[in-house]
Amino acid sequence: MPRIFSGIQPSGELHIGNYLGAVRNWVELQRQFESIICIVDYHAITIPYDPADLRRRRHEMAVSLLAAGIDPSAATLFVQSQVPEHTELQWIFNTITPLGELERQTQFKEKSSRQESVAAGLLNYPVLQAADILLYRADIVPVGEDQVQHLELSREIARRWNARFGAGFFTEPQARLTPTRRIMGLDGQAKMSKSLGNTIGLLEEPDAVWAKLRPAMTDPARVRRTDPGNPEVCNIFHLHKAFSPPETVALVDANCRSAGWGCIDCKKVLHESMERELVPIRARARELAADPSLTTQALGDGAGTARRLARETMTAVRERMGFD
Ligand code: SF4
Repeated sequence: MPRIFSGIQPSGELHIGNYLGAVRNWVELQRQFESIICIVDYHAITIPYDPADLRRRRHEMAVSLLAAGIDPSAATLFVQSQVPEHTELQWIFNTITPLGELERQTQFKEKSSRQESVAAGLLNYPVLQAADILLYRADIVPVGEDQVQHLELSREIARRWNARFGAGFFTEPQARLTPTRRIMGLDGQAKMSKSLGNTIGLLEEPDAVWAKLRPAMTDPARVRRTDPGNPEVCNIFHLHKAFSPPETVALVDANCRSAGWGCIDCKKVLHESMERELVPIRARARELAADPSLTTQALGDGAGTARRLARETMTAVRERMGFD
């Protein structure tokens, strides 16, 4: 079975943007591939952070992933910092990665331009990503379009290492583009993101979800109830495409263009569609919250499997590089 590697930052509870944009896809893929899913906490420390807050966010992310349907009997779910080989392999890759390649990475240029003092870890972030993926010799990495450049660097690092120390040892991982398009925030202005405060939490209660949906941005040209709208420019329509069945999506399209529905009617139908999917997720999250040992156990088992795979890779890497 081909192996797939997915990583996610410990950003606390999932929001529906990262659920639709990544995690729902991983839940499907865990039945088709050998899935390695990693909460990448070392990636989260390139900016100042509070250790207690990091612990909380990491646990909440694990609960969210399990509640969303990641099944520890089908996938290996673990925390990056529990497997020290990630940083060992990163150091090795640092020695074969040209500085210019790292400075050219779009995400580094964007993030470093917003920071007064740039840590070397921000520059080397994609090298750790390469180590995460290649440590498990993953065949496939599900990515959004904004991660394609980093994955190409991982492939380049695999080629460089293979050329010097072992032809064909590291698989060049293939990108698998996530099928759901970028989920915009409730303001309709930017990608859904906690830092922008435009999200709906995956585990939020129905009243809280409705309180956020109700005032959410729609087609700005629909000023009056009688104005026909264009669903293609409306984020609510794209959420319908993600949560509602095709016949409802067709109904939304028709009723928007004819002004048959007002936007509140449309949002009520979306809320019902979302509830159908979110009710069982919230129920699983409550079970996990009632017994934290379920999450600890799942992560412990996952780390055990990940360590075994990582040690196999590093034993061969050390031998080939003269460290045996
Ligand atoms: S009717 Fe629905 S799709 Fe059309 S603008 Fe309003 S919220 Fe958006």
